[in-house]
Amino acid sequence: MTQETILIVGAGLSGAVIGRELAQKGYRIEIVDSRAHIAGNCHTERDAATGVMVHVYGPHIFHTDDQEVWDYVNGFTTFMPYKNRVKTTSGGQVYSLPVNLHTINQFFGKTLRPDEARTFLESEADTSIADPQTFEEQALRFVGKGLYEAFFKGYTQKQWGCSPTALPASILKRLPVRFNYEDNYFFHKYQGMPANGYTEMIAGILDHPNITVRLTTDFRREAADGYSHIFYSGPLDGYFDYELGRLGYRTLDFERFTYDGDYQGCAVMNYGDVSVPYTRITEHKHFSPWEEHRGSVCYREFSRACEPGDIPYYPIRLVEEKAQLADYVARAEQEAGVTFVGRLGTYRYLDMDVTIREALDTARLYLARRAENAAMPTFLNPPL
Ligand SMILES: Cc1cc2nc3c(=O)[nH]c(=O)nc-3n(C[C@H](O)[C@H](O)[C@H](O)COP(=O)(O)OP(=O)(O)OC[C@H]3O[C@@H](n4cnc5c(N)ncnc54)[C@H](O)[C@@H]3O)c2cc1C
Repeated sequence: MTQETILIVGAGLSGAVIGRELAQKGYRIEIVDSRAHIAGNCHTERDAATGVMVHVYGPHIFHTDDQEVWDYVNGFTTFMPYKNRVKTTSGGQVYSLPVNLHTINQFFGKTLRPDEARTFLESEADTSIADPQTFEEQALRFVGKGLYEAFFKGYTQKQWGCSPTALPASILKRLPVRFNYEDNYFFHKYQGMPANGYTEMIAGILDHPNITVRLTTDFRREAADGYSHIFYSGPLDGYFDYELGRLGYRTLDFERFTYDGDYQGCAVMNYGDVSVPYTRITEHKHFSPWEEHRGSVCYREFSRACEPGDIPYYPIRLVEEKAQLADYVARAEQEAGVTFVGRLGTYRYLDMDVTIREALDTARLYLARRAENAAMPTFLNPPL
């Protein structure tokens, strides 16, 4: 058994999983988090008035093909079946998403079968665009003007705060349409929701005698001596006090409101029209369909550029940000004794299952490197 102490910055999924794995091997783990709660952006809490489990930083649906990750999370909580079925309001009608045969037939007022719909959409596509460069060109090339304007243009513009003509074609890699009636958003083998929310699950992961968690505690580099290693899941640019500028993020504002009854009949309703300022409304009780609540808690979700003091949600990762990121990565590589992990530490969008996979791999590599007396890399999963 070792008596070495490891500091972990962030009590989200990354920090909790790394901490747990190393605690089980006898390391003393100190975790600090600037927030007043554990679980990072996955944090859930019950609304006192209605009893609804609220996904405080926006809705989180667990989905994975990774058997080990699925077994891991099921070791700490009970997962309830959940399928993500999203609707969208566009041009005064409600449609099914992702765009599928039902959406196509409803939008064009037709009764097409799959092969007919394929042929029809090919006739809608703008084949004059030979080499699509922008998101808009790619979408027009794939689905044509009608579907693009109803389902992609406005939503994308609101989400990224710029015209789809300013976004690269690579964002829309494949034809974003299904020629059947499958409206389950994810194709993963396992999908579900933790019965009592993510925070309870992460509390279970952190529940080990070798782990100490200090909340409302900001990490300061000057106060980080004496640890055998640091795993940092805070923002990469924040670690260096933003000395090379701020990496670009989108942030979200949630306008919370309550309703007596069922507000919209589904968990997620997108709004495709640019005239509606929010991107979607989420009604949280529908994320726990096995529970019954009369009252309802909803979020109107607005997307905007992240300013100092805002919560960074989605890394932008366009050309400008990638150049700045390269400078931060080079700067980080000069640091000894710290590994940057998680969605903020590596400036990538990571689903929860990927976060857990990377955290498990990180802890294992640390143990292997310690056994060989070799140094731990600054990044296991390079941000670039
Ligand atoms: C709106 C939204 C919806 C999402 N929906 C899904 C979904 O449906 N399914 C899915 O699989 N994934 C989803 N995700 C992704 C999911 O949120 C991430 O996978 C997960 O949060 C990553 O965990 P993390 O520990 O790396 O980061 P975080 O959860 O962000 O945790 C980092 C922690 O570090 C703390 N911290 C930062 N800086 C400091 C500092 N200087 N000192 C001390 N503490 C610090 C923060 O307070 C935070 O608690 C969604 C993400 C967003 C933004």
